Amino acid sequence: MKNLILLGPPGSGKGTQAERITAKYGIPAISTGDIFRKNIADGTELGKKAKAYMDKGELVPDELVVGLVADRLSEDDTKGGYLLDGFPRTIVQADALERVLTERGERIDGVIYINTPRDELIRRISGRRVCEVCGKTYNTGSFAPKVAGVCDHCDGKIVQRNDDTEATAKNRVDVYNEQTMPLVDYYRGKGLLSEFDGMIPVGDIFTGIEKLLGE
Ligand code: AMP
Repeated sequence: MKNLILLGPPGSGKGTQAERITAKYGIPAISTGDIFRKNIADGTELGKKAKAYMDKGELVPDELVVGLVADRLSEDDTKGGYLLDGFPRTIVQADALERVLTERGERIDGVIYINTPRDELIRRISGRRVCEVCGKTYNTGSFAPKVAGVCDHCDGKIVQRNDDTEATAKNRVDVYNEQTMPLVDYYRGKGLLSEFDGMIPVGDIFTGIEKLLGE
């Protein structure tokens, strides 16, 4: 398996598993959320457009996302495979991805789906903190840094993402249920879906992923 999708609601631990998969298998994780956040930080036109949606917890329109991913998948580091994190998020995006890949003679080999209940997601998202320098994530409840407000890894400042407040978190989970959840059946129907329980420890989820991807 080389071309993978990581599917799951916000707060399911996709980012954490993406870090581990990248470290072990050496394939790049492509996070559309990270690409938008970088564009916002750099003050680009795309960033300005995306921010308005992201701050409300809504999805950025499909037409702003698809081209961006198609361009990213043309870069050299994706030749040995890649992990899409946070894309596709709608059926329209999934169909567009399939068209782009078919034109290139490629396909998605597997979809890793992390299933997590709603209450747990809201709790995790609103407790989430992130280092503004290196992007490492923490959680006020379960995974605090050694020194409050300071990243263990790079001494950067730890902040809360604009869209991680409780109200926005609720909206993001509702948006996920309405617009992204249909992808579970979409990929299951194609025989590509492997489901993992998001309530078990992070390390156990990764062990399951290793079994799927091979040592
Ligand atoms: P994430 O970091 O994946 O949780 O994404 C943060 C926000 O970026 C989402 O709530 C959306 O507003 C936007 N976003 C990221 N990926 C997509 C996508 N594939 N389609 C639409 N919006 C997206």
